[in-house]
Amino acid sequence: MENRKPYNIFDMAQQQFDRIADLLGLDQPTRDFLRIPMREYQFSLPVFMDDGEARVFRGYVVQYNDVLGPTKGGVRFHPQETIDTIRALGMWMTWKCAVTNLPLGGSSSGVVCDPHTLSFAEQERICRGFVRRVAHLTGPTWDVLGPDVMTGPQHMLWMLDEYEAIHQQKSPGFITGKPVGHAGSKGRQEACGYGVMITVREALKDLGLAIDQTSASFQGFGMVGMYAAQLYQQMGGVIACVSTWDHADRTAYAYRKKGGIDFEELASITNPFGEVDKARAEALGYERLPGEAWLAQDVDILVPAALEHQIHAGNVGQISRRVKIIAEGANGPTDSDVDEVLRERGVMIIPDILANAGGVVCSYFEQVQSNMNYFWSKDEVLSKLDSHMTSAYIDVSTYANRHRLSLRDAAYILAVDRVARACHERGWV
Ligand code: GLU
Repeated sequence: MENRKPYNIFDMAQQQFDRIADLLGLDQPTRDFLRIPMREYQFSLPVFMDDGEARVFRGYVVQYNDVLGPTKGGVRFHPQETIDTIRALGMWMTWKCAVTNLPLGGSSSGVVCDPHTLSFAEQERICRGFVRRVAHLTGPTWDVLGPDVMTGPQHMLWMLDEYEAIHQQKSPGFITGKPVGHAGSKGRQEACGYGVMITVREALKDLGLAIDQTSASFQGFGMVGMYAAQLYQQMGGVIACVSTWDHADRTAYAYRKKGGIDFEELASITNPFGEVDKARAEALGYERLPGEAWLAQDVDILVPAALEHQIHAGNVGQISRRVKIIAEGANGPTDSDVDEVLRERGVMIIPDILANAGGVVCSYFEQVQSNMNYFWSKDEVLSKLDSHMTSAYIDVSTYANRHRLSLRDAAYILAVDRVARACHERGWV
């Protein structure tokens, strides 16, 4: 038997790109240019721990493509980070910014570490050490950082503070996802999850379904899953199931409750990592199932909002026949080889580069506000987010219907075509 390479997310991202390059008939130099990052940096980051010992972390920055503007992307803190996950995320950010018509390129960065096991002081030293390594490679007009998995407003503020100390000037446009009051944007916390639900709302209209007649199952109750669930409940949907990671048990659990989950109640027993307190959940009458059960629920909508590689050939068969929409809150949650299986079953996948783009759309708003030093009300931010996401969805769905394509292919074609044309117009390839 052929020796199969272990799953590699950047291989998957490149395969997706190759398919789209074929569909678009891209010339060879453009393909060669777009299937690898323009620039990448890898470095060691020695940090003193609270016990006085130094520990060496690994850091990565991938500035994937900047033809449409300064690159933009999140900084991820995760123990399983590799240069390839960061490359894949950088490529996806490039398509995400292009499909939502933002004047930004795509990047991604990260540190291999597990914030669960680090004190605040240690996390601060990692953030500051990271910025000392990248302060001359990033910046408001070159590469704008932002939040991602296991990084939040406090991390962004430490990073900003270090950057401003190094450059001796206030540069709030260096990073987004900052706390409100420190040049952050109102609504940024909610933006990614709300954006997911705005695209679900539009997709339900396309399918002729009323949202208050639907139910949904969520994987992940962090920044994305939590706010997606909140808006879904506000719009009348029933939260049937939520699965979250449990650090103590090193596994995930899926929670259900008779009559549906109340968002506020579940949020009140969830920690900042998005993990539900299982003892309190039990006391409140929640049923606790193995984590993977979120996928097998008899619901209309699935929202994978955790990490990549969650729906694959090994579990796609568990998805209920009732599921009509999969909204990808996470980046890369569905393996490419099951896309077609789901499509044949009539499942509409709202692809990550569209579904979860609300985060970067709001980051763009934050950067605009930061650069002007003039900040909008939350209503103004959220209504701009709604119209931006709605028109991106409509662009993609109109193109998909016109050319009889899946939403994923339509989103990728629009995005890759915009980036490729911009490269030609600048005379790069
Ligand atoms: N990490 C976010 C994403 O994957 C974007 C971060 C940012 O706002 O730049 O879309």
